[in-house]
Amino acid sequence: MLVIEAKLKGTQSQYSKLDEAIRTGQFIRNTCLRHWEDNKGVTRNDLQKLCSVLAKNKETPWTKKLNSQARQAHADRAWSAIQRFYANCRLGKPGKKGYPKYKKFSRSVEYKNSGWKLSSDRRQITFTDGFEVGTMDLWSSRDLVWYSEQQISRVRVIRRADGYYAQFLVDWDRREEHELQGKMTGIDLGLKEFYTDSDGNTVENPRYFRKSERRIKMLQRRVSKKHVKGKKQSHRYHKARQALAKQHLKVSRQREDKARKEALALVKSHDLIVYEDLKIQNLVKNHHLAKSISDASWYQFTRWLQYFAKVHGVIVIAVPPHNTTVDCSCCGAKVKKTLSTRTHKCNSCGTVLDRDYNAAKNILAKGFKLLAEYLNGTVGHTESGAKSLKAQGETDLWLKNSDGLALSRLEELRISNYAENPPL
Ligand SMILES: [Zn+2]
Repeated sequence: MLVIEAKLKGTQSQYSKLDEAIRTGQFIRNTCLRHWEDNKGVTRNDLQKLCSVLAKNKETPWTKKLNSQARQAHADRAWSAIQRFYANCRLGKPGKKGYPKYKKFSRSVEYKNSGWKLSSDRRQITFTDGFEVGTMDLWSSRDLVWYSEQQISRVRVIRRADGYYAQFLVDWDRREEHELQGKMTGIDLGLKEFYTDSDGNTVENPRYFRKSERRIKMLQRRVSKKHVKGKKQSHRYHKARQALAKQHLKVSRQREDKARKEALALVKSHDLIVYEDLKIQNLVKNHHLAKSISDASWYQFTRWLQYFAKVHGVIVIAVPPHNTTVDCSCCGAKVKKTLSTRTHKCNSCGTVLDRDYNAAKNILAKGFKLLAEYLNGTVGHTESGAKSLKAQGETDLWLKNSDGLALSRLEELRISNYAENPPL
């Protein structure tokens, strides 16, 4: 799968018609969710049928305007939210199970392979359903020329702070030649450094938010000043709000860009990469660290890492985050540290290392151990059975994809183990 994005250029009335389509998609998704809540044993098929019922209903005439396959795509959105919730319950995921929520401010509408048409030079798109959006220009859609319309399985229209975008989902398995580098590494994702690897190299953390923070605060003050309680907001208020949203968008694009570039560079220069599978959502709840952690963009980085690993056929392993900072990477002794202790000093063997460097070494060792267990077929077959399985499951331990060895099967293994031995 490949996603190609292009900016949509049109008139104000076309944009507001797109808004209408987005609201309709949201309405269908929410109605499906309500239907599931109100009835027992609802299936995906029931939700699909509900779409055509809605389209025929005289009280909801706008639903008919949305292309019929797009209606189904939004029923599917509701269905996958429901499925995700069930799966989390089934797997005994600790903490919140992600009960499906009603959407209030959807930003996107999704079309399958009808309801739109591309011009032959791929510079324009025409929306053909009942909203009568018509033809819009596509900016920077160069890459689309290489693919046929049959290869595009979805078109998603997204509203962002600086305009409307079309995302094309292209069925294409990207494969790149990977030359063996003879290098393996463990990486410790950090706040001070973007990451530290098990050879002691570091990549600087750019802290984009910190850099824009003064400007964001200033824009935020402008918005607050212009806000009038209990009244319709002025034109100037909306202008200020938009300027703030644009600045946030800029920061998030910078982060995404950095995450993508660093991940690609790492994948290209290694044959095996081990990282710590951090529970980022839980960490972000810590107020003191929240800003810095979101700014470090670990989540985006690990997502890109997995993606590029698949494309380049490189092995990426995610290991559970237990004790990687505490353990001595040389002798295994436990060395307690506070958040501010920057150096690892082991009293047992005398090793002195940078804190993150020590952690990165531990992470690589954990990855090797896991790999060995997998290759020896001992993963999931520990003596203590369900109890240790639970310990593993809590940390969401799994190997990410690889071509050479079918390592991704480990994840299936873990899930099937759950099915046989549900966690206590
Ligand atoms: Zn030691």
